[in-house]
Amino acid sequence: MFTNSQTLFERARQVIPGGVNSPVRAFKSVGGTPLFMKSAKGAYMYDVDGNKFVDYINSWGPMILGHAYEPVVNAIQEYATYSTSFGAPTELEVKIAELIISMVPNIDMVRMVNSGTEACMSAIRLARGYTGKNKFIKFEGCYHGHADSFLVSAGSGVATLGIQSVPGVTSEVAADTLTAPYNNLPAVEELVAQHKDNIAAIIIEPVAGNMGCILPQPGFLEGLRKICDDNGIVFILDEVMTGFRLAAGGAQERLNIKADLVTFGKIIGGGMPVGAFAGKKEIMEHIAPAGKVYQAGTLSGNPIAMIAGYTLLQTLQQHPGIYEQLEAKTNSLVTGIKEALGAAGIIHRVNHIGSMMSVHFTEYPINDFEAASGANNELFKRFFHGMLERGVYLPPSAFESWFICNALSEADIQFTIDATKEAVQHLQ
Ligand code: PMP
Repeated sequence: MFTNSQTLFERARQVIPGGVNSPVRAFKSVGGTPLFMKSAKGAYMYDVDGNKFVDYINSWGPMILGHAYEPVVNAIQEYATYSTSFGAPTELEVKIAELIISMVPNIDMVRMVNSGTEACMSAIRLARGYTGKNKFIKFEGCYHGHADSFLVSAGSGVATLGIQSVPGVTSEVAADTLTAPYNNLPAVEELVAQHKDNIAAIIIEPVAGNMGCILPQPGFLEGLRKICDDNGIVFILDEVMTGFRLAAGGAQERLNIKADLVTFGKIIGGGMPVGAFAGKKEIMEHIAPAGKVYQAGTLSGNPIAMIAGYTLLQTLQQHPGIYEQLEAKTNSLVTGIKEALGAAGIIHRVNHIGSMMSVHFTEYPINDFEAASGANNELFKRFFHGMLERGVYLPPSAFESWFICNALSEADIQFTIDATKEAVQHLQ
């Protein structure tokens, strides 16, 4: 069934570390051979063995309207003929900045970069440069990219691989990263009291998507906002996953919370390698060349990436009903999966908001990394492979969110629920 993938994986392992260019693709925690993809359209992906899958990763978020969304593909084709890179400013960069500012609350300037990692790394540098302070607080199980200072108690692949401390990250760098459990306001208050006057920023995923999908408890984000206001700390919302997904204006709009800086990735590039950070002029003008906080990129604002992102974002802005559709689809999927697991007597928790969700095999609520780590990973592995064999492609780790795309049909949802009913027969 997966012979061509197996052959390719063998070849890949000779020339690419671990056979993949990003660790979570390797199926490390679920076992088996990662599948090599050939093409994708709408809600479906096709691998090199000709298997078809309903896709619940959607490139880890960007494909909110499904794969190979025609207006995006057409725009890329047209712009590729003008040049794939200028290294000089274009009107398109101004247009996408204006568009993003019109969609996202509380920002009046945007800087484009090439990945979510760059966006978060630059936002922390900016917060430090702006406040003149060194330390920042992040949350256990949150992932903000692979820059050195974020690889402390990180989620996503770091959690999947069980890496406690990342070789190559110096203890001096790690010492400036303070960590607290997600949803634990008293722990943050204590850190702020201990390190008074030396905390530049608090960075958080407003809905965590890198330890499964974990929602902020009522009052948690508001409490962080107040701590930041009271102590001159820059509040950074990492909206790499949630941006343009929870709402056109991201978590700030959906959860009615105000950030000082916001980071973006994934959807903002329409599937091309793009990230961005944004905020009020007062802070953003500290970035070079307006200010002295240096940040740059040869391919930043790349025209092909910009037209892909612009086309997708414009569609989302012009069709706000997409968000209701996405949520309705997610809700019916959640209901069906819960019924299937419940009917088979399998203890589970499903977390979801908007078009993000995750399934954990545990009886306890999943509100932080410790709880997520306590769920039954053996069962998740078997569930993952049971679904894969039945044509449903889930994230290959319980420490990842599922992403629902709007190309998903009622029939696809029913197909997934039926696959769940069958897969759970073999779980116990
Ligand atoms: N922040 C969050 C919340 C993410 O989920 C990710 C990637 N999954 C990143 C930052 C890093 O983005 P990238 O992989 O584009 O560097």
